[in-house]
Amino acid sequence: MAEGMALVKSSTDLQPLCYEHHVLMRPVQILLKGDMYPAPTLAYTCSEPGCLIHYNSPTGYFIIPMPDVTCPHHSLPMYLAEVNPQNRSFRLWRCPQCDAIHTNEESLSGL
Ligand SMILES: [Zn+2]
Ligand SMILES: [Zn+2]
Repeated sequence: MAEGMALVKSSTDLQPLCYEHHVLMRPVQILLKGDMYPAPTLAYTCSEPGCLIHYNSPTGYFIIPMPDVTCPHHSLPMYLAEVNPQNRSFRLWRCPQCDAIHTNEESLSGL
């Protein structure tokens, strides 16, 4: 049996790039909410600080939001609605059911 001949490529051999930052993504174990992925799943994450873009083989590219971003009225996970190119860590989240928004810079909005 020749070694390395008929090996199925494991998904850890992939070297996907972040489609936004064009840098090599690194493999991580993630826990996705929802029925489809009840167990820790291998995915790739961008190495840019604050980048939420992930990739894995059956799903393709996807965004993992911060776990605490939920609508205070509906307890629904909010989606990323706005970013600021001048401030890469800025995120604005919006509820899919109402107009509630959440930013990660709440302290600046209370002037
Ligand atoms: Zn990225
Ligand atoms: Zn809401």
